[in-house]
Amino acid sequence: MTSMNVLVLNCGSSSVKYELMDMKNSRRLARGLIERIGLDDAVVNHHYLEGEDYKDAKLVREVKTHTQGIKILFELLTDEKLGVIKDFKDIYGVGHRVVHGGEHYTGPVYVTEDVKNDIKECIELAPLHNPHHLAGIEAIEDLIPDQPQVAVFDTAFHQSMEPSSYMYAFPYELYTKYGIRRYGFHGTSHRYVSARAAEMVGKPIEELKIICCHLGNGASICAIDGGKSVNTSMGFTPLAGLVMGTRSGDFDPMILLYLMGKESLSQCEANTLINKYSGLAGISGVSGDFREIIESCKEGHERAQLAVDMTALRIKHFIGSYAAQMNGLDLLIFTAGIGENSVELREYTCQDMDYLGISIDKEKNKKARGVEGIISPDSSKVKVMVVPTDEELLIARETARIISERK
Ligand code: AMP
Repeated sequence: MTSMNVLVLNCGSSSVKYELMDMKNSRRLARGLIERIGLDDAVVNHHYLEGEDYKDAKLVREVKTHTQGIKILFELLTDEKLGVIKDFKDIYGVGHRVVHGGEHYTGPVYVTEDVKNDIKECIELAPLHNPHHLAGIEAIEDLIPDQPQVAVFDTAFHQSMEPSSYMYAFPYELYTKYGIRRYGFHGTSHRYVSARAAEMVGKPIEELKIICCHLGNGASICAIDGGKSVNTSMGFTPLAGLVMGTRSGDFDPMILLYLMGKESLSQCEANTLINKYSGLAGISGVSGDFREIIESCKEGHERAQLAVDMTALRIKHFIGSYAAQMNGLDLLIFTAGIGENSVELREYTCQDMDYLGISIDKEKNKKARGVEGIISPDSSKVKVMVVPTDEELLIARETARIISERK
């Protein structure tokens, strides 16, 4: 029997996150992170299956490029002691997380020269991400040229939005000329989590109205009607929408023009202000990390509390607006680092939402930390749920499916 091991790669500017999944036996063989690519002392944190247990290993090596990083990854995966496969040929295919597919893609695709060109074309829209995804794809081509590759786009799930949801009220020509529109991100997560939630409640997703709150360092909300994204809070870029770790989310754009004048900010400084110095970090002055914010709240830190209150209120606004857009709501889901773990934020967000049929059971909420669970009372009209996200699993499944269909 041939193996069906899928390697999932998420290539960032100086990092490569990886997972090797055995799709035949539904097992994770290895996962890890190569960080500080470009430096003499890049770090590889490798988590691998040995027998029935997972073990950890840490390596420090010189890694100058993504290709070098992925070469080290292959050595690691086939290493006598730390490895989990015998040969590269035991890799059935490679699935890449790609942030931006523009309007080209509504689902995952087999990587071809045309697909690579489309990813390249979208570099303008995602300059911090797409070049590195492309570097990852090309590294695989160099190292294992015969192995098929699949691109899974963060934007694809949201391509089902209607123009009334994705257009901005600018002159229409800016859409046709520059592609200025809402694209939305975190699509792989919203898709995985909503499908899993439907499974958990035993209903076909086609019959459900779902709001999915992906609350991590980056955060977005998605309205999913009958399994299709109909609106989402991130926009042309991942800056829009919710209050995030260091990103401002939505604000009156005139503020930026005003500040650029007042403080003589360059375009680059303005970009840093709204992407790196805002959000939880900017409001609280404490940190962009939600755990630290909650700790400060417990010590009575007023600005940390303000940051949490603003975060919860912004989420509430989106829930109300998406319930209105879909004319109803069946499932409200929390996922990602904060959504899965923060009992406090889920409680603040769902407070005084009974008008919409949303309420949570405090005991159930407390128990659902990083695990699947329904946290609303049995009588609740809307089921409030915690569903841990697993983008890598979805990418692996889609990669296996697309490659099998071509064979
Ligand atoms: P992510 O981007 O999905 O990895 O999520 C990162 C965010 O989740 C950070 O702000 C963390 O502080 C937050 N987070 C992780 N674990 C917890 C926890 N136990 N309670 C509250 N927030 C958490």
